[in-house]
Amino acid sequence: MSLIVQKFGGSSVRDAQRIENVADIVTSTYKEGNDVVVVVSAQGDTTDDLIAKAQEINEKASKREMDMLLSAGEQISASLLAMAIEKLGYPVVSLLGWQAGFDTTSDYGSARIKKVDASRIRKELDKHRIVVVTGFQGVNRYGDMTTLGRGGSDTSAVAIAATMHADLCQIYTDVDGVYTADPRKIPGATKLDVISYDEMLELATLGAQVLHNRSVEMAKKYNIELEVLSSLTRRKGTIVREDNKMEKMLISGVAKDDNIARISIIGVPDKPGLAFKIFSKLASKGINVDIILQSIGRNGTKDISFTVEKNKMEETIELLNTYTETLGASSIVSDDNVTKVSIVGAGMESHPGVAAEMFEALFTRNINIQMISTSEIKISVLIHKVDGDRAVEAIHEKFFDNI
Ligand code: ADP
Ligand code: ASP
Ligand code: MG
Repeated sequence: MSLIVQKFGGSSVRDAQRIENVADIVTSTYKEGNDVVVVVSAQGDTTDDLIAKAQEINEKASKREMDMLLSAGEQISASLLAMAIEKLGYPVVSLLGWQAGFDTTSDYGSARIKKVDASRIRKELDKHRIVVVTGFQGVNRYGDMTTLGRGGSDTSAVAIAATMHADLCQIYTDVDGVYTADPRKIPGATKLDVISYDEMLELATLGAQVLHNRSVEMAKKYNIELEVLSSLTRRKGTIVREDNKMEKMLISGVAKDDNIARISIIGVPDKPGLAFKIFSKLASKGINVDIILQSIGRNGTKDISFTVEKNKMEETIELLNTYTETLGASSIVSDDNVTKVSIVGAGMESHPGVAAEMFEALFTRNINIQMISTSEIKISVLIHKVDGDRAVEAIHEKFFDNI
């Protein structure tokens, strides 16, 4: 007998028919003699709808109340799925995050899982019940509801799989695996049979929403193999696991992230300590900085540009404005009409010329690059937002056509 964790995303539980379909998958797994823990997201666009409802009432609602509200979405889908399983005649129980032992930090809206006390889940499995757990949520040390950040149900599933040493962790979604680019945007994208944790982590972090990046980080840490597959087609999916050197792909995928803004500090004195002053101020406010570009000093001054998450743009500008004088800067400019397009591949480390090929693809479409950043297994460029889809298309064509 195996312990199997199955996670179903919002589109997989969108309506009654889809919930019945999930109940079928879950009970077939159970019938084969397995222990099954199911993790569910909120139905369809419920989380977005709840956010919209909150904004109608209070645009500046506290994060605590937002979590109280958003955690409701998963409660609905978990109980409905349990009802569908009951109807099929199987023993089942649904549990909220706190009942399932999700102990998190207090960072409402982006709480981190400190530990999962799986004793209740274990007890229910011992009674031969299928256990349905709400994804995305937990409880902090004050006993308040927290949520893990958008897309966080994947991380809930992996956390259970890691804590309970599950034999298999399946992430069911609305596409049948991880593709070389978003298959909804790039018709020529192809499905990957296998992808390494490191590559999947980069892709997820760089905008491929198919997996929550923290779920991949956790899967790597605890060596949990993930299978990403469709709840609708029931075809074989993509396996995410430790890198197998023999299979290193030059490029495994292209990703795009629109949730980004560029900020430039113009005319700061060209002397030591300036970068330190700027970035330590941002860090102290929890503002995460991504690509950084510093110009060569000229006439005793230089410009420093960097990117932040779009929703941190205003806060960053406000913060920097209070320091422009101390920093000796002449102005702060910002632009959120930008997007970041990246390629990821473990093979590029040992293969020269990948960056040149990517830049050539952009040049052939006359797309201007504003910033570039590289690591061993990825190259990212910041470009104008209107060019985003064309850029992904051009780059994908360059690396994946004729394969
Ligand atoms: P769920 O609700 O099941 O969690 P998500 O919407 O979070 O599903 O993630 C699935 C979506 O991720 C797909 O519908 C697809 O459009 C998008 N996606 C982006 N990049 C990729 C990729 N490289 N491979 C597969 N899907 C991708
Ligand atoms: N329902 C949450 C969201 O929409 C969590 C998830 O779907 O994983 O972000
Ligand atoms: Mg998701």
